[in-house]
Amino acid sequence: MKKYSDFRSDTVTKPTVEMRKAMFEASVGDDVFEDDPTVNKLEKLAAKMLGKEAGLFIPSGTMGNQIAIRLHTNPGDEIIVGDSSHIIQHEVGGAARNGLLQTRTLRSKYGILDLKEIENTIREDDIHFPKTSLICIENPHNDDGGVVLSLEYMKDLYNLAKKNGLYIHLDGARIFNAAIFLGTDVKNIAKYADTIMFCLSKGLSSPIGSMIVGTKKDIKKARKIRKMLGGGMRQVGIIAAAGIISLKKMVERMKDDHKMAEQFAKFIKQFKEIKVDMKSVQTNMVYFWIKDNLKLITYLKKKGVLVIPHGDRIRVTFHKDVNDSNLKNLEVGVKEYLYGKKN
Ligand SMILES: *Cc1c(COP(=O)(O)O)cnc(C)c1O
Repeated sequence: MKKYSDFRSDTVTKPTVEMRKAMFEASVGDDVFEDDPTVNKLEKLAAKMLGKEAGLFIPSGTMGNQIAIRLHTNPGDEIIVGDSSHIIQHEVGGAARNGLLQTRTLRSKYGILDLKEIENTIREDDIHFPKTSLICIENPHNDDGGVVLSLEYMKDLYNLAKKNGLYIHLDGARIFNAAIFLGTDVKNIAKYADTIMFCLSKGLSSPIGSMIVGTKKDIKKARKIRKMLGGGMRQVGIIAAAGIISLKKMVERMKDDHKMAEQFAKFIKQFKEIKVDMKSVQTNMVYFWIKDNLKLITYLKKKGVLVIPHGDRIRVTFHKDVNDSNLKNLEVGVKEYLYGKKN
């Protein structure tokens, strides 16, 4: 198989040797009976790191968002969510199908939903209206560029929700990237949400798996909803073992991904054919515009470099399994596409 420089996503990261060893050696049990010691350890660790009472290991981030949405709502309720959020764009309409909910989408800019607009969107108690029960927020916000919401914003949003008796679910698929950008402990972000979903399978480099954290009561309910969705797993300590290493050993290194993203963004900024919003380059992703973006993607693939289209943009993601020489391939590829081979 051809060896690609793969910038499509941080989900392509392979487990480390240490992870594979831990997986091999993991003590396991039936997790539906809550008998798997490795899963129990991971769930405790995740809860502790995010400053919550309890955690739940789940197969995917998508299932995590779906569980959280159901947890905080009743069928027929309305949820407020950003129109370019993962929940709206990438979960196959699951909120409607699984949660039987009406989604009220608001436009976001740099991941921010306008607080005044949210306030105006919250329903009053009226015989005609559905009940607004949940606000979902994404941090970092993927489609808006991997951008991070400030702690001030998170706090204001949380207070607004509480004032109105609403829950906040944070899709924090890459919450540790947000914490790195803000230079803060991840707890300081997590405290402004009732439940948080985050992925072990992205920059944290586990092969599979995500977490939900929240109160003991909510996680108990979440465990039951996970079972309903078919996500109750058995000797899944085999995978949780990698998750523990993700949390203990793989957080700090993501700083390098952010540095590489910034370096690449600065490189492409010099070309007039390319538009990149430097303000949005905050974590491990760079989104940019170029005319006929698919042509560049096809060209790069021929050169052994993989990136993905995102509407009329291209997304480039940095992670553990790309190094400086992969970055060089990418940069040379872009430059050659624009100006041809020099000499
Ligand atoms: C990747 C991602 C998810 C879903 O995770 P999967 O494990 O791929 O289902 C949810 N939200 C955001 C913002 C993501 O980037």
